[in-house]
Amino acid sequence: MTGSLEQVAQAIRAYNKFLITWHIDPDPDSVGSGLALQLALQAAGKEAVCVSPDPLGDWSRFLPGIESCKVFGGELGSALDVDAVIVEDCEPARCGGLVPYLQSGVPVINIDHHGTNRGFGEAFYIKPEAAATGEIIYELIAEYLQIPLSQPMAANLYAALAGDTGTFRYSNTNSRVLYIASELVRQGADPAETALHLYENRAYEEVDLIRAALDTLEISPRGDMSWITIHRAMLGENHWSGQQSEDVIRYPRMIRTVKLAIMFRELEPSRTKVSFRSRDNIDASRIAGLFGGGGHTYAAGCTLDMPLQEAKALVLETAARILASNSAEQSGG
Ligand code: AMP
Ligand code: MN
Repeated sequence: MTGSLEQVAQAIRAYNKFLITWHIDPDPDSVGSGLALQLALQAAGKEAVCVSPDPLGDWSRFLPGIESCKVFGGELGSALDVDAVIVEDCEPARCGGLVPYLQSGVPVINIDHHGTNRGFGEAFYIKPEAAATGEIIYELIAEYLQIPLSQPMAANLYAALAGDTGTFRYSNTNSRVLYIASELVRQGADPAETALHLYENRAYEEVDLIRAALDTLEISPRGDMSWITIHRAMLGENHWSGQQSEDVIRYPRMIRTVKLAIMFRELEPSRTKVSFRSRDNIDASRIAGLFGGGGHTYAAGCTLDMPLQEAKALVLETAARILASNSAEQSGG
């Protein structure tokens, strides 16, 4: 834990007009947390607007308040004229086109659960033990700011928790998360509807892309590492959404012997996004950190300024070395 949630609450009490933002490739945790916080601040009589650094996928359409969310396209005029910016679910460096604005001297409040975030701004709270940023936002709204949770806030926070726990299946699912989820359902969040929108609301093209992605599935000779590759041509005209990463990376991670699942995605001819999912004490954030990225122990990512094939070769070689030394350590060798 770094920083203090009380300091964050104090900074929020002190200001009146907020811009809330999150990371590129937005996911249910970042967007749900942002919308819930926006609704809470508005309920407390403050002004707040959510600005996403990247377009939002279709999956986000069911979130209450999403229609008021702006997407940063280079200019926002008076929307940027606020007392403070709340950066949540990431460090400010991951806010894409908004990074120069965040460095322009505007007060920044940073709330996150990525252990690789050292904390930024005049008030920050980084809690890696939190399963989702939504868990911290729940504590902030309900316990620190003591703003009554409305149904729309609960629906957003439930989506945030569901998103980052794989709907309460991953190892970050604990009694605290389930307690908060239960409170959110009591306030009107709908688990079945949330799951439907997050997992069973894809366009045909998105599912067809999973088919093409599965065709690229590979596995290491020892069976401990498996990966999938998304070429730009596979996307056609379609935009990639954060939810699709989850759709695809689940296949290599499903394999019994796999300790490290990797997805390589070609962003541009010389830019490659790499996602990692791990288990059995393999620290994915450490591997991503070697390439300038970060994240959590069992879910992390990075972006390399390299063509797909080059990035693949480098990352696979590095990861194989780490897995080999890890298994040597475990067998006492
Ligand atoms: P992804 O690979 O985008 O599915 O992300 C997996 C996890 O790692 C998510 O919690 C991300 O927020 C986090 N993550 C991805 N890329 C980075 C990065 N460059 N720096 C820090 N955290 C990251
Ligand atoms: Mn998150």
